[in-house]
Amino acid sequence: MNSSVTSSSSIRTLLQRDQQSIWHPFTQAGMDQEPLVVTSAQGSRLVLADGRELIDGISSWWCNIHGHGHPALIEAATKQFSTLDHVLFAGCTHEPAITLAERVLAALPQGFAKVFFSDNGSTAIEVAIKLAVQYWANHGTRRNKIIALSDSYHGDTFGAMAAGARGVFSAPFDTMLFEVDRVSTRGDAADIQLFERLCSDGQVSAFIFEPSVQGAGGMVMYKTEVLDRYREICQRYQVIAIADEVMTGFGRTGPLFACSLLTTPPDIVCLSKALTGGSLPLSLTVTSERIAQAFVSPDHSRTFFHGHTYTANPIACAVANASLTLTLNDECSAARARIEAAHKRCAARLATYSAVENIRVRGTILAFDVKDSEQRGYTSSISRAAGAFFRARGVLLRPLGNVVYFMPPYCLTDSELNSVYCVLEEFADMISKRGISALM
Ligand SMILES: *Cc1c(COP(=O)(O)O)cnc(C)c1O
Repeated sequence: MNSSVTSSSSIRTLLQRDQQSIWHPFTQAGMDQEPLVVTSAQGSRLVLADGRELIDGISSWWCNIHGHGHPALIEAATKQFSTLDHVLFAGCTHEPAITLAERVLAALPQGFAKVFFSDNGSTAIEVAIKLAVQYWANHGTRRNKIIALSDSYHGDTFGAMAAGARGVFSAPFDTMLFEVDRVSTRGDAADIQLFERLCSDGQVSAFIFEPSVQGAGGMVMYKTEVLDRYREICQRYQVIAIADEVMTGFGRTGPLFACSLLTTPPDIVCLSKALTGGSLPLSLTVTSERIAQAFVSPDHSRTFFHGHTYTANPIACAVANASLTLTLNDECSAARARIEAAHKRCAARLATYSAVENIRVRGTILAFDVKDSEQRGYTSSISRAAGAFFRARGVLLRPLGNVVYFMPPYCLTDSELNSVYCVLEEFADMISKRGISALM
């Protein structure tokens, strides 16, 4: 027996202690399965306490791009920890943050000038929305309206939740969330007309969108031309365009940043998740010079009074720098291209099964819908049952309702990719032959 295997009675004890004291995110303690006890992770693999290994098929919530335990990230973290662990970022600065800001600005499309640090995706969004609203306040006008896309997800704090699509996540708070106008990712004539009408009243401060792929909304992939049309109207009415690249950033959808495909770059971009290669919490809200300048003044009231305790944590910045070096490497773009090509071959095979539809690939994301009109939405029981099916076959996937997706770290080998594709095909085959009920 492997020495790293924990005895089943010790695992049971851990789970009891967990259940006693811990409240897990997005988890219904009354229904969901017990959590997996994970003891270690290396590369694309999670090692469970009982000795089983799972392929991390969703990059630990879309963050881990270079695999777990990457030596370059470990070295950066260790070195930084022993040099400068943390210091407040108001009135102090440090080299890891300065270098990261410079390098991210250089990697983004032209037009960005300043970097504001926070520590997770939701706060990066809060910062972006507050900047957009205060930008106008600093100009002596009030623009309090926000436009967002339908099916969007921007995080779970109040402002981010308000910008996101409403549903079971937001229902208890709906009356407390600021209202947001919405247009769809179809961008048809009616959408464009609505968008223009909304912008033309001079009250809209910002338009926020996940470029290229809407993640939590169900891996919705849509055309950049749609955003170009909205972006053009934003420019005409001076509406600030905010790209939420918390999920799409750092190569996930193919290009380094999905917003680089826009004809005119956005005014603000939000980055987190893969920023540190998926190892430490950190986020950036990056703005154009025009926005930053609206806050520079001898008048204190124009200050952006916002900051989080762990803003620009030096260890997280050092790791982000190391991760960026890996991401900018030719090897990384080659790995992404290899995965995208393999995903497309798998997509063609999946298309032969009758129970799956909307099979789609963008960058390293492969997604499809389980056909089942009754079972849509995040709380669909398909996701729980399908997740268990995949785990039993060595792959960690967490379907979003009836949307199954595979979003691996870029280090997955061809043989690991193939083993996941086999499991996906086995799944598609089973539900095509025996129906969804075979899962339950
Ligand atoms: C995950 C996510 C967020 C929120 O990030 P957290 O770090 O979970 O707060 C915001 N926007 C998008 C597009 C995301 O995928």
